[in-house]
Amino acid sequence: MTVENKYIHNALKQTRLETSCSSIAGFSISGLATYVQLPELDFCIDMGECPLSATSINHVFLTHAHGDHGRCLMRHFSLRKMMGVEKSSVYYLPENICEKAKEWIKAEALFEGVPENRFKFPEIVPVKAGEKIFLNYRKDLALEAFDVRHSIPAMGGTLYRYKKKLKEEYLGKTPNEIIELRKNNVDITREVYDPIISFMGDCLGESLLQNRQVFKSKVLITECTFVDNDDEEMSYKKGHTHLKHIVSALNELDNQVECEKIILSHFSMKYSEHHIQEALQKYIPEKFKDKVVAFI
Ligand SMILES: [Zn+2]
Ligand SMILES: [Zn+2]
Repeated sequence: MTVENKYIHNALKQTRLETSCSSIAGFSISGLATYVQLPELDFCIDMGECPLSATSINHVFLTHAHGDHGRCLMRHFSLRKMMGVEKSSVYYLPENICEKAKEWIKAEALFEGVPENRFKFPEIVPVKAGEKIFLNYRKDLALEAFDVRHSIPAMGGTLYRYKKKLKEEYLGKTPNEIIELRKNNVDITREVYDPIISFMGDCLGESLLQNRQVFKSKVLITECTFVDNDDEEMSYKKGHTHLKHIVSALNELDNQVECEKIILSHFSMKYSEHHIQEALQKYIPEKFKDKVVAFI
């Protein structure tokens, strides 16, 4: 194995990227592990591995039940306790996997020797597609999940920055006039939800166009397990995205793509970094080349 391979296959060696919404630190290689920390947003997508840097993050979203995405969910919970973090962390789970997840969480705790009468569930929030929920400790951020197609039930999501802005008709008013309007209980504000980060989790390429609103987010994180032409069949079989599907979504949406950055993650472990970069160079349309980056 070359040094290059060792680098992209080491789940505890973090990849870091800067975006205008948050820095992004984590790891994502298909079958090995996926976790994507957004420290400035106090949010982590998946917990297939749990380095110490994840312990300060209070909100964790699990996209689906595959081990390489969820294996360390409770490691996160217990590591925080060990580190003396007092705030309770919150785990957002697709509604339809919550019950099974609870059985697993309890079984794991009992297996580790926690007496049944002392066992307590961590805070778990079931997430429904199409519902905006404010993050527990961040009332300026709302999460909205959506269903994607994978080999098992799976979800992606969008984080919105929530603001109240003055309604158009009051923009020219003086501070005194605004105070007066407020005193008279006039509703002078409107609610604005700016989509900042969308993430697809594991999914077939078709999920991108089925959830095309994700291309309105400043940052889109989407899986790209396969890049070689010979692997297209495999991508359908395994419920994953092929680079081709991302390219055709970009071509179809063209000027409707509003993302500043599109981050490709979850590459198959059989590719080297060099091979992935070469494929992106070859197939990503010229127009999008400066937006698309590989998370490796
Ligand atoms: Zn995966
Ligand atoms: Zn999966």
